[in-house]
Amino acid sequence: MNVNQSIPPVPPFGQPQPVYPGYHQSSYSGQSGSTAPAIPYGAYNGPVPGYQQTPPQGISRAPPSSGAPPASTAQAACGQVAYGQFGQGDVQNGPSSAVQMQRLPGSQPFGSTLAPVGSQPAVLQPYGPPPTSAQVTAQLAGMQISSAVAPAPPSSGLGYGPPTSLASASGSFPNSGLYGSYPQGQASPVSQAQGHPGIQTPQRSAPSQASSFTPPVSGGPRLPSMTGPLLPGQGFGGPSVSQPNHVSSPPPQALPPGTQMTGPLGPPPPMHSLQQPGYQPQQNGSFGSARGPQPNYGSPYPAAPTFGSQPGPPQPLPPKRLDPDAIPSPIQVIEDDRNNRGTEPFVTGVRGQVPPLVTTNFLVKDQGNASPRYIRCTSYNIPCTSDMAKQAQVPLAAVIKPLATLPPDEASPYVVDHGESGPLRCNRCKAYMCPFMQFIEGGRRFQCCFCSCINDVPPQYFQHLDHTGKRVDAYDRPELSLGSYEFLATVDYCKNNKFPSPPAFIFMIDVSYNAIRTGLVRLLCEELKSLLDFLPRECGAEESAIRVGFVTYNKVLHFYNVKSSLAQPQMMVVSDVADMFVPLLDGFLVNVNESRAVITSLLDQIPEMFADTRETETVFVPVIQAGMEALKAAECAGKLFLFHTSLPIAEAPGKLKNRDDRKLINTDKEKTLFQPQTGAYQTLAKECVAQGCCIDLFLFPNQYVDVATLSVVPQLTGGSVYKYACFQVENDQERFLSDLRRDVQKVVGFDAVMRVRTSTGIRAVDFFGAFYMSNTTDVELAGLDGDKTVTVEFKHDDRLNEESGALLQCALLYTSCAGQRRLRIHNLALNCCTQLADLYRNCETDTLINYMAKFAYRGVLNSPVKAVRDTLITQCAQILACYRKNCASPSSAGQLILPECMKLLPVYLNCVLKSDVLQPGAEVTTDDRAYVRQLVTSMDVAETNVFFYPRLLPLTKSPIESTTEPTAVRASEERLSNGDIYLLENGLNLFLWVGASVQQGVVQSLFSVSSFSQITSGLSVLPVLDNPLSKKVRGLIDSLRAQRSRYMKLIVVKQEDKLEMLFKHFLVEDKSLSGGASYVDFLCHMHKEIRQLLS
Ligand SMILES: [Zn+2]
Repeated sequence: MNVNQSIPPVPPFGQPQPVYPGYHQSSYSGQSGSTAPAIPYGAYNGPVPGYQQTPPQGISRAPPSSGAPPASTAQAACGQVAYGQFGQGDVQNGPSSAVQMQRLPGSQPFGSTLAPVGSQPAVLQPYGPPPTSAQVTAQLAGMQISSAVAPAPPSSGLGYGPPTSLASASGSFPNSGLYGSYPQGQASPVSQAQGHPGIQTPQRSAPSQASSFTPPVSGGPRLPSMTGPLLPGQGFGGPSVSQPNHVSSPPPQALPPGTQMTGPLGPPPPMHSLQQPGYQPQQNGSFGSARGPQPNYGSPYPAAPTFGSQPGPPQPLPPKRLDPDAIPSPIQVIEDDRNNRGTEPFVTGVRGQVPPLVTTNFLVKDQGNASPRYIRCTSYNIPCTSDMAKQAQVPLAAVIKPLATLPPDEASPYVVDHGESGPLRCNRCKAYMCPFMQFIEGGRRFQCCFCSCINDVPPQYFQHLDHTGKRVDAYDRPELSLGSYEFLATVDYCKNNKFPSPPAFIFMIDVSYNAIRTGLVRLLCEELKSLLDFLPRECGAEESAIRVGFVTYNKVLHFYNVKSSLAQPQMMVVSDVADMFVPLLDGFLVNVNESRAVITSLLDQIPEMFADTRETETVFVPVIQAGMEALKAAECAGKLFLFHTSLPIAEAPGKLKNRDDRKLINTDKEKTLFQPQTGAYQTLAKECVAQGCCIDLFLFPNQYVDVATLSVVPQLTGGSVYKYACFQVENDQERFLSDLRRDVQKVVGFDAVMRVRTSTGIRAVDFFGAFYMSNTTDVELAGLDGDKTVTVEFKHDDRLNEESGALLQCALLYTSCAGQRRLRIHNLALNCCTQLADLYRNCETDTLINYMAKFAYRGVLNSPVKAVRDTLITQCAQILACYRKNCASPSSAGQLILPECMKLLPVYLNCVLKSDVLQPGAEVTTDDRAYVRQLVTSMDVAETNVFFYPRLLPLTKSPIESTTEPTAVRASEERLSNGDIYLLENGLNLFLWVGASVQQGVVQSLFSVSSFSQITSGLSVLPVLDNPLSKKVRGLIDSLRAQRSRYMKLIVVKQEDKLEMLFKHFLVEDKSLSGGASYVDFLCHMHKEIRQLLS
């Protein structure tokens, strides 16, 4: 018998055709005995068709970097040779030797002698020769910006790290001068982003822009026209996109080069004359397409030869700047992945397979590993030893979203009911039965895939094995064939050995002066009347099992009896907030339908009752305390929805004072701004977690409310925080109501515990997210919804084995919204490698960034922000230097060589570094920073991706009748055409930017006014007009909103208007006003750091 059959090296589902049919209904339902109830199983038949077709797909797909699917073997086969030839060069990415070789000549030139022309200050010299063949290699092994980077740009570490103060920040930047004039709307990041530093001309007149700007080509589509290298001064097919400014602006002399050097601290001056004028982003981008076969090579890149012969020092022009088009483009990578991987389903049967990017729409077929919607890893190939892992410095982490919502065409996990015996587990490590367990001795025992313990198979679970050693019922049982499934939990998994009651929702409404004055209370009460009909319910259930209760408060609390037998609600006031108790049990938590009349009456009365209130003070901790006590008394888990307006300064536990102090920014004490003011909140949170009481907090502050402290309880109980600064009904109700509706309706798991088990050799050592931990292994979540992730970091505690790989099993025990206790299991098998190149080939940058951002955002609680930034930079440099040293083929040190899978690491990391938490601009409040910090903590990978690198969509480029979303352009001012309009979104914010020269017809169609000047800046709603453009834009806005977990309020921004400053904050490839480096500058800095590490 072959015991190994159930283990992934060979995709277990790849071959099973013969057996497969059994998977069909018949056997499933017939399984009766120990399997699930008929209903949940019905759906289980669904996947069948997929199964039959998929095997071939899985294999033919050749995942980008993981080599041929039968992973290990294939890689080894073709890999060896190549390694011999190219040192450790990666075979996958850097295919043909020919290509590799080409680059060499070009790369040689690195001498300081090549120092660019005289116009550059001596210090800056360095940029070497055009990268020549670098472009080609880029697509392979990694991308190479063969830039001759300045040998030693000014201050290094210092420089990069963010300036210590805003003032010094700007001062330190070579171009800082520009910002002085920024308010005029002229200079701005654009020029620096793309211009030669020497020619930055602050005044860029609108007219000239108009003429010179070509509608930015949207990232991707450039390919055809771009086959040849471009000279710095030329654009793609026509007026250049970016250069115009420079062409029309005064010659370099305009600014004495010296001026740029003034600041000792600045990031490497932008004199990065990274040549490579014509480097085509497309080339690096080829994620999947050109990957395998060399044949493609010849044709798609005819230009390659040209590059080789285009060596020489930076002849072309005075440029000396790194061409923004020459550096890896997020847009290109995203587009390539969509094109290459968005067309066929992602089948999870292959171990260690890197999934498509989060920005790609794809269907998932579960064939034994959890869908990437549930788990994404920083790498799908883990180094075998801790030494290797340390050398690479690539964090090994998984971002897990246990209750992720799936698209309609993917089935929710099947529920397995093993009756009273409960789920089958390993006796030693307690791992749950899963597809990787190996049945032996004719099926009488199984060996645990996590700890190797041999366990007896209970008689009721016994099944014969087929000739391959696989149980004949493997495909009839979700827990033996799927990556994700659920078990019904027995009473042993319940608190106090008692099945739970259905959860309750308690709405706790601030009725102080501010809440009443803004109209919030009236709006909320009105909304709740209808919203209560949409409480989450178990699928198939007629009505929600969730009970509801109501409390209002200011300095005191008011409880309401809404028992169905009452004619009118009754209020009970508790003014002793120091010793909170719940004045009533019977009638406080009720069924909505039964008590509807009384509830409606209450909601009608609340706004009236407090209409004339003069009470401005509020309490906070006693409110949560009361809700938690109410749940405790009712012996159930649940959620508190808190609607709160002000800093709780009333005399009560948890009373706060205003301690906001912006002077602390960039000092060692800055971390205190992120820490809670008092320990009372943590203590309370702990009690809430014990009760399964989750808190969702809606804040409506007019001023500082100390989000850092108020968000502690939501954060530790798995809840959410929403913030509506300066709330006004007319402006903000749509956003608030959308968030509220979604929040109330979303499916939540209550009173949950999550545990991540791993196979021998690695273990979970660190956790990030909204939860509480009282020991080192159990993640406790009073509540967990489908938007929240838990990020887990792994470390080695032993050597891993290439053959057996590494396994993760995430088990989440929770109470469903109907009060059912369940276990949701997700399994994932990863590859292990002894070659660093395999690690780098199977990384996922988006997940890496998600992890690194969370790591950094937690770091600011304890370390100076600058130290946190420096740590990130160092780690990134180490990761890339290790690749360069061990995996890239030998080349000049002057070349920046990035692993294909990580070529966006620098640009994305730079976005994290200059985010509001790590490098706040003057307009960012302390509360904003604390708010974002806690938001990011539980974001999934798709959310962090767009949050840090916003999506910028040109609206008039594509044909009006086109129904597909426009292709994004890079987030840089130079990509904006003043003749176009754009949408920019990052998951929280949504802007519509209108260029000053946009056609009058467009203005009329969208805004119903006759000219640009008549458009109201700051508009948040587009008029509903009956024309194709208006419909299209409004439709697109709706669709963007639907993709995000929070409602994005629209802000219309006009070019050159005051509000534009706000918008520009999100153009993350540009230098930021707060001192954040431009992408180009950061890349050069990173290059320098890497070179230092290598030398
Ligand atoms: Zn075990």
